Amino acid sequence: MIKVFHIRESRLVDSSGASMVFSRKRRRGAKTHIPKSQIVSFEPYKKEAPHIGTIESWIKVSVTTWIWNKAKLEDQFRSMVANGEVILEGDNQFRIDWDEVRRRSLQKDHCFFCLRPLLVSSRTKDHLISRHILKKNNINALPHNTVPCCTGCNGLKGSLHPEEFRKKVSLKIHQTGLVYYSTIKECLDDIINS
Ligand SMILES: [Zn+2]
Repeated sequence: MIKVFHIRESRLVDSSGASMVFSRKRRRGAKTHIPKSQIVSFEPYKKEAPHIGTIESWIKVSVTTWIWNKAKLEDQFRSMVANGEVILEGDNQFRIDWDEVRRRSLQKDHCFFCLRPLLVSSRTKDHLISRHILKKNNINALPHNTVPCCTGCNGLKGSLHPEEFRKKVSLKIHQTGLVYYSTIKECLDDIINS
């Protein structure tokens, strides 16, 4: 498995400059760099930035997931992600079938997850992808991300990603055998692309 991310480069990257970019960064004293031996592929590319009407220069870097995990690169890049200096590719998709979410959300008088009828007193909204996760991925908002939810499911899910929530309810099914948890799991199976 390959992990891809993009790093903003303030200067234009010339066509022969692939391996120079990292040595430049090292000379500038940047805290983060990846040894060249760990880079699987590396290409300069330009990213349109319509909000400022310019084209920005970025470099696209691929490393293996093994190296990614071993070097804890995501941790190293966290502040750079927040500053918009690094874009992690693939993390913005969240593996969710948003059409299915929209279809299910239309039933506003039922809990999105457990399908129990929602009373006015027990009706809440859940952010399917929590604001914490959105912030971490440098995203302001996602369409169709709020779903009608009972207080029970909302508390159970917390700010977990739907995939983590599915792991949690799978464990609960194993421990309790309650239909409540298997209903939630069926919902999550439907909306998560496997
Ligand atoms: Zn519920």
